[in-house]
Amino acid sequence: MTERDQDVDVVVIGMGPGGEYAAGTLAQAGLAVAGVEARLVGGECPYWGCVPSKMMIRAADLLMEGRRVNGMAGAARIDPSWAPVARRIRDEATDNWDDKVAADRFTGKGGILVRGHGRITASGEVTVTRFGPGGGRQVLRARRGIVIAAGTAPAVPPIPGLAGTPYWTNREAIETEQVPGSLVVLGGGAVGAELGQVFARFGSRVTVVEGKGRLLPMEEPEAGDLLAEVLGREGIGVHTGQHVTGVGHNGASFTVTTGGRELTGDALLVATGRRTDLAAVGTGAVGIDESLPAIPVDGYLRAAPGVWALGDITGRGAFTHMSMYQARIVVADILGEPVSPAQYHAVPRVTFTDPEVGAVGLTEAQARERGLQVRTSVYPIPRSARGWIHKAGNDGFIKLVEEAGAGVLVGATSAGPTGGEVLGALAVAVHARVPVPVMRQMIYAYPTFHRAIEDALAGLG
Ligand SMILES: Cc1cc2nc3c(=O)[nH]c(=O)nc-3n(C[C@H](O)[C@H](O)[C@H](O)COP(=O)(O)OP(=O)(O)OC[C@H]3O[C@@H](n4cnc5c(N)ncnc54)[C@H](O)[C@@H]3O)c2cc1C
Repeated sequence: MTERDQDVDVVVIGMGPGGEYAAGTLAQAGLAVAGVEARLVGGECPYWGCVPSKMMIRAADLLMEGRRVNGMAGAARIDPSWAPVARRIRDEATDNWDDKVAADRFTGKGGILVRGHGRITASGEVTVTRFGPGGGRQVLRARRGIVIAAGTAPAVPPIPGLAGTPYWTNREAIETEQVPGSLVVLGGGAVGAELGQVFARFGSRVTVVEGKGRLLPMEEPEAGDLLAEVLGREGIGVHTGQHVTGVGHNGASFTVTTGGRELTGDALLVATGRRTDLAAVGTGAVGIDESLPAIPVDGYLRAAPGVWALGDITGRGAFTHMSMYQARIVVADILGEPVSPAQYHAVPRVTFTDPEVGAVGLTEAQARERGLQVRTSVYPIPRSARGWIHKAGNDGFIKLVEEAGAGVLVGATSAGPTGGEVLGALAVAVHARVPVPVMRQMIYAYPTFHRAIEDALAGLG
């Protein structure tokens, strides 16, 4: 034991949204809590994820709304500039990627912040390889438990020629001070679609390559097809069902080989998902197989005796709201407070493209795979009163997936100008298993986008 070794009640490894919430709340409750963070307190979301990407999207959407003035409200000339976007991300979102505010927030609650890489080295023991002045190692012993909230990092596929090139992940894309003249995006999931559309709207010539058969492969096929159509209309090249077989970089630009064709770009964004690293956290020391893609947990997020896991690393959906939801359960379980086990039947998620794609619960295919008897209905937003009024930029639809025997929705998608907001009503319905006849009796304000839910309900027969 060195002089810095410490006995505490709880050690939290990783101070992303869920880790920070759990560590801070437990410290406020009076426990001695050490929060171990290798990068920035707050994690991916505020510095390289949700917050700055949504600032970029807000700016890109403003440009698009400006372009829509033509033909609907006169004439507008749009002159995009990235400088205010980069400045806002640096100054307002990330404090130039400095976590002092978040670190003070945690220590202000009584938490002990330990900067370094934490690894479980025995039951109830985390060894931290410390960064910065002093360096060295510190052993933290946890009387009550260890919470693993180490999140994920960008996954980079082993494409020949890619390693060693100056490709971007979400981190470099968020930090960029300039819009590349042209950009190839590997991956047409939420991150690739959102960032691809942003850079295109700021004038970059963007091509998106997706290995699966459609964009947003995890969501309803209608969503991916709609997005491909909209992105194509905006001049973005969309290649689905295409595998990249090689990447080259000549010092100035990239060449991406896919399906016998060569795509070129000044920048290359790799947005092919996220990866966990259980070995780096030392889960083997508490009997959790380090080769697994995620940490198996029970309903209370217990992973092993005295060990909890939460957030992206549990593989239940890589969303900040999931990490926070699980963190609340972990806190209650550690404090011995009554809490319901986690439920995942109504997980909401939003891809913040324009149109936004909000979804909750099961897709039609997932419901059928589970052997459910399903009825579905799709209603196009342009056919709804509000969609028709909205006109430019009114792409979207509501899709409902009903478990026919039970008469409740088990999944829904709302794509459209405010698809993520319309999702709220559908999330309540799926979460609370609101009977479809009750949903039909509701009064839907006219002419809102969410009123299209009523039109979609009529289509369930
Ligand atoms: C571009 C982009 C946009 C996104 N947009 C959204 C969105 O709009 N909405 C949404 O809900 N989600 C969004 N996400 C996902 C969201 O950012 C993540 O789901 C969320 O950050 C996960 O939180 P977490 O608590 O699991 O940990 P993370 O945020 O991944 O943080 C984990 C922390 O643990 C630290 N760490 C890891 N290992 C160790 C170790 N051994 N020792 C010490 N520290 C360690 C890391 O440095 C990191 O700070 C987005 C992600 C990206 C990349």
